[in-house]
Amino acid sequence: MPISPPVQPLVLCYHSTNVNGHSYALNDHVALRADLAALHTAGFELVHASDLEATPSAGRPRAAITFDDGMVLDALDFGHPSWGHQDSFLRILREHHERTGQHCQAASFVIASPQARAELDRKDFLSLNVWHDDWWQEASESGYLTIENHSWDHNHPSLDLSVQRNNQRGSFLSIETLDEALAEIAQASDYIEQRCGRRPSLFAYPWGQANDYLADEFFPQHAADLGLTAAFVTTPRADRPINRWSIPRLVCGTDWRSPEEFAAVLRRHCEAVNPA
Ligand SMILES: [Zn+2]
Repeated sequence: MPISPPVQPLVLCYHSTNVNGHSYALNDHVALRADLAALHTAGFELVHASDLEATPSAGRPRAAITFDDGMVLDALDFGHPSWGHQDSFLRILREHHERTGQHCQAASFVIASPQARAELDRKDFLSLNVWHDDWWQEASESGYLTIENHSWDHNHPSLDLSVQRNNQRGSFLSIETLDEALAEIAQASDYIEQRCGRRPSLFAYPWGQANDYLADEFFPQHAADLGLTAAFVTTPRADRPINRWSIPRLVCGTDWRSPEEFAAVLRRHCEAVNPA
């Protein structure tokens, strides 16, 4: 019988800003609650995204939960102007723990720059104050979330000015010099550490986009100094190797949209861990 290679944990990504209704397909809070129950029922161990040790063949399948963009809804319940009360992701993790005994510490990848978050709140989120960072320290100390690095300003197209050398916004592929990488990544880790007392160990590329400079040069050369141990993409590019600086993730709403599709994701992963 051929020996199967070990399998990386399944890394899942949710956005607390995805609230467009009350159903699974339209609300990542509804999806997260259902998916945690499905993972528990399917026998998955929940690990932190920094725990990248592969599952040996015939081992217990493992999954890690991550959140992107760092809106307050990651940790604070929220009265949504259109869709009413929303349980925070942190509450959903805590209630899952209380209900099943299964503890899960998720990685929350936040946009670090307070100026960028304030500008995005004003321009894209009706000044609802959904992008402050007063919750970082308490969430970090709760044991349910770690605050991780999702860049300084996401090189976001809604900003007047980003750190990109030609102010070319809307993609992370254009972050390809040392100055830009330090401004986007080192500066973000410094600010997050100062605000929540713990330095991030993980980075998630905005839009899940790794480029050759960041994944092949910048991180291998500078990550140790910055305290970073891994970086996450979403769908890996076919022309780039999968390694510690471009770890794939599956995104709720993109890679699966229903409990049935999520069950299929888990089934595929279990078959890879325990081939017939
Ligand atoms: Zn993002």
